[in-house]
Amino acid sequence: MSRTVAFIGLGHMGGPMAANLVRAGHRVLGHDLVESAVGTAAEAGVEPAASAAAAVAGAGLVVTMLPAGHHVLGLYDEILAAARPGTLFVDCSTIDVADARTAHERAATAGMRALDAPVSGGVVGAEAATLTFMAGGGEAEYAEARPLLEAMGKKAVHCGGAGAGQAAKICNNMILGVSMIAVSEAFVLGERLGLSHQALYDVASTASGQCWALSVNCPVPGPVPASPANRDYRPGFAASLMAKDLGLAANALREGGVHAELGLRAAELYAAYAERAGDTEDFSGIVRTIRDANGD
Ligand code: NAD
Repeated sequence: MSRTVAFIGLGHMGGPMAANLVRAGHRVLGHDLVESAVGTAAEAGVEPAASAAAAVAGAGLVVTMLPAGHHVLGLYDEILAAARPGTLFVDCSTIDVADARTAHERAATAGMRALDAPVSGGVVGAEAATLTFMAGGGEAEYAEARPLLEAMGKKAVHCGGAGAGQAAKICNNMILGVSMIAVSEAFVLGERLGLSHQALYDVASTASGQCWALSVNCPVPGPVPASPANRDYRPGFAASLMAKDLGLAANALREGGVHAELGLRAAELYAAYAERAGDTEDFSGIVRTIRDANGD
């Protein structure tokens, strides 16, 4: 069924996601604070709206793809009153679990419905419509959003109630951040012990050390030719984004009173690394920081 969708936040991720909704036959009313982002989306068939509220007023469903929780909550305060009663608000941004739950509450108070649906798969996945969505909210809301999520991705998982999508996202990325540091430390130790990268890879990738950080995003050049290490750590998944996601995980650990030494330490290490590497280096480049710290 073709829908009229308001899409707010047409940046690196939102722009191509909105374009894929157009490609799937939906009418998309788009808005972004940055004019060039609106222009690029318009070339793909997104109809520019005069304001976020104007986009929402004309739509049956609203998708947001914004940088952080305060952007989402600030925007909700601006647009909830403009929507038709019962409109479904689907937030695909990666934000704090607590902010996601607040967004659900504010939507409900305004007579609207909500789903948190963050993604993994990066800009490449957004362009190719191969994202994975992790959704939190009611069954009916998930069922309504699902055809749209499937137009923008290859997989959607309903993880539970309000905030469950964000919870799944930060737990997954905490595994990824910690495992990338573990793999990188193992390579640096192997170097000190005179072990070649290939030998360690051949053993660990088929033994109990196997994980995505090793076998797909291998932090040293050579063993996995497509990994960012082979192109001087151009992202890929930027260090700044890993630092952001681990910061959200650290907030959730503290708020939940969960003792998790490695998750918190990974957040600290990535925050320090991202200050230097920012958006220009893949998160696997942390191996160089570990090597430097050892004077190697
Ligand atoms: P981005 O900065 O490229 O895009 C965000 C857009 O939101 C910008 O164009 C900005 O102008 C717009 N915006 C901010 N406030 C607005 C407002 N009030 N009204 C209208 N537009 C507004 O960021 P991105 O890379 O597209 O990431 C978006 C979200 O997706 C983030 O939460 C990020 O963590 C998450 N994410 C990103 C990636 C990735 O690889 N880039 C992967 C997975 C998840």
